[in-house]
Amino acid sequence: MKCIFCEIINKNIPSSIVYEDEGVIAFLDINPRTRGHTLVVPKRHVSSLIELSDEEVCELFRDVKKCAELLMKKLGATGFNIGLNNGRSAGQLIEHVHVHILPRYGDEGKGFESAFPIDEELSEKVKNMPKGLIDFSTLP
Ligand code: 5GP
Ligand code: ZN
Repeated sequence: MKCIFCEIINKNIPSSIVYEDEGVIAFLDINPRTRGHTLVVPKRHVSSLIELSDEEVCELFRDVKKCAELLMKKLGATGFNIGLNNGRSAGQLIEHVHVHILPRYGDEGKGFESAFPIDEELSEKVKNMPKGLIDFSTLP
């Protein structure tokens, strides 16, 4: 099956482009969650962030920063959230790695807590974990 984001990169599917350079394209999400909701996408097709080289990750996040700055300036956003759904368990629908930038406006918006409320039971256990560099086997 064809990858929608590769089709967008190759301009076979039109999109509203926010920014583009040799290795990365950023375009508006078709189902925006906030005004100016943008997807920043490396042009090489890989599904997971972990498959990108360190250089590609640097390039991607350099451009995430550029786009966030652009969205703040041009749209008057006063903050932004960055998200990356990596893998099916994390809700990734398009299997071409991409970073969401959600410009935010006004005061006292909700952060992660709206999507991920604190797990009070885990919270108590984490507080009682040994401190310093962790031994993963002690993670509750
Ligand atoms: P995720 O894979 O991180 O869950 O989300 C994929 C995102 O891609 C969704 O927010 C969805 O609205 C967006 N999307 C899916 N298809 C298209 C498309 O054809 N064009 C654009 N611009 N965005 C799309
Ligand atoms: Zn692709």
